[in-house]
Amino acid sequence: MTIPFLDLTTVHHELEDELVAVFRTSLQNAAFIGGPMLAEFEEHFGRFCATRHCIGVSSGTDALRFALTAAGVQPGDTVVTVPNTFIATTEAISQAGARPDFVEIDARTYTLDPEKLREYLDTACRRDLASGRLISVRTGSPVTAVVPVHLYGQVADMDAILQVAAAHELLVVEDACQAHGAEYFSAGQQRWQRAGSIGRAAAFSFYPGKNLGACGEAGAITTDDDEVASRCRLLRDHGQSRKYVHEIEGYNGRLDAIQAGILLAKLRYLDSWNEQRRAVASSYDGLLDGLEDVVRPHVPGWSRPVFHLYVVRVHGRDALVRVLAEAGIGTGIHYPLPLHLARPYRPLGFKWGDFPIAEEAAAQVLSLPMFPGLSVESQQQVVEAIARFAAHGNANVLQASL
Ligand SMILES: *Cc1c(COP(=O)(O)O)cnc(C)c1O
Repeated sequence: MTIPFLDLTTVHHELEDELVAVFRTSLQNAAFIGGPMLAEFEEHFGRFCATRHCIGVSSGTDALRFALTAAGVQPGDTVVTVPNTFIATTEAISQAGARPDFVEIDARTYTLDPEKLREYLDTACRRDLASGRLISVRTGSPVTAVVPVHLYGQVADMDAILQVAAAHELLVVEDACQAHGAEYFSAGQQRWQRAGSIGRAAAFSFYPGKNLGACGEAGAITTDDDEVASRCRLLRDHGQSRKYVHEIEGYNGRLDAIQAGILLAKLRYLDSWNEQRRAVASSYDGLLDGLEDVVRPHVPGWSRPVFHLYVVRVHGRDALVRVLAEAGIGTGIHYPLPLHLARPYRPLGFKWGDFPIAEEAAAQVLSLPMFPGLSVESQQQVVEAIARFAAHGNANVLQASL
């Protein structure tokens, strides 16, 4: 029996009638752009994230670009993020006219390390005497924002990040593209906060494989800030406040009404899907317990993740991927090369060794099959294959490399 990394057909088969009804409604009222389905989805997803505003856009990448610009990032600014993310994070920074720079991650959660952010601001930046602004030594431009990435569905340590950011007057924009419904316990506020409601604004992706996925491209910005929200609404729609009244130059970055309708229909199931993902994760945790060479995901007490991915760490990861593939088990690697070493960022002058924790993680992380409805039997099969590899395969790999 083969086990896919991700099963996108079963859920759409189960929801087919509901989703086809959305399409039929759109054909009947011909409201393909804007309209009631968009407004209703925005209202409900904003409520889901506990934010006052939600602005549907064409992708997670556009959501992040618009959020950065709307929050006040200026062309030429430096925006800090982590090296171990999907390239969309840094693309959005560049598309906002800014320059990406990187800060090391925490070795256990793989999210931005607030202490490393503090260290970066204290030692890799200098204060411009004339303007009083903090200048990145690497980019030569003012550091104005930080983008923590809630990787694999787990929120970064936001209390500490917000504190460091506030001390240096940095904007915080969350990349929540993998974290729909994830929660963070703020010790400062003594309450659980939803991903997307913690920074000045946040970006979500509804790419089909995300915890909430469209049947095509889609994304959204969430924010409590009225001005950021209205700027995002302008940016997504050619800067228009009304038809042909252009306040600024914007983009064509709207969310299709059909996708909004599909997302609205699926949103009703998101809590249940996230619960199923948590159940799959805890079942993996139990099955992998005792396999000493396999490091399981670390969940701090302040985190309630939604397991967009279930990521383990192993030595000999690439050999294990091949063994699992031969056994019919799909896996993923998120991500194989940290962005500071990726071709587009070579001009920034980074080298191997600059972010050792992110680099080591990139060589060892492995995403196991994870989706709502993944059976315990399938999980047992996955873990048995890993255990066989740990017992024999690893030794063979070592021998082969001698
Ligand atoms: C998916 C993703 C994005 C981009 O979303 P798109 O909808 O594909 O543009 C950005 N950041 C992260 C961390 C993602 O996983």
